[in-house]
Amino acid sequence: MEIKSVNEFEKHINRVLITAEEIGEAVKKAGKEISEEWDGRPLLLVSILKGSFVFLADLNRAITVPCEVGFMAAKSYFEGTESTGTVQITMDLAQDVSRYHVLIVEDIVDTGRTLSEVYKILKARGPLSIKVITLLDKPDRRLVDFDADKALFTIPDHFVIGYGLDLGEYYRNLPYIAEYKE
Ligand code: 5GP
Repeated sequence: MEIKSVNEFEKHINRVLITAEEIGEAVKKAGKEISEEWDGRPLLLVSILKGSFVFLADLNRAITVPCEVGFMAAKSYFEGTESTGTVQITMDLAQDVSRYHVLIVEDIVDTGRTLSEVYKILKARGPLSIKVITLLDKPDRRLVDFDADKALFTIPDHFVIGYGLDLGEYYRNLPYIAEYKE
């Protein structure tokens, strides 16, 4: 897939599902709640790349208490817009999680496979505690019994793009969440 012109780029954007303003409000509220919950405890936000990098950047700035960030990359294999079920950790976290309360920051929980794998791996390393926050939740698509502790938005079963989420590496730069159109 190669997109060169703005016309071609825009023709795949079906409609805006969540506006930049709605995302901004929800992220601000989540940052406040996190600041209250983890105040006084060593907090490590673990961003699952690449999809969560935009959410992480905004959430981190909405948190008012000391916290650190770490990055882990997980690749879910896709055929078009459908996950094949294979999850691979392609980049590991640099920090020793045993010193931290870990908050995993994810873009979207779809089948639940990626997050349940990452959660299992990090929990086995003995963090002080571990929780999960996701920007989006698509509960209708779940194949693995796994839920985030907090989901900012619950969405129907549509493939979405924007605010870090891609299709073939494009569309991460949209400031809103939109439905993708073939
Ligand atoms: P899982 O199926 O393991 O819960 O989700 C795996 C990954 O697939 C997510 O972290 C995300 O990167 C990607 N994904 C799932 N649903 C969507 C979607 O609607 N849009 C985009 N762009 N990526 C998705």
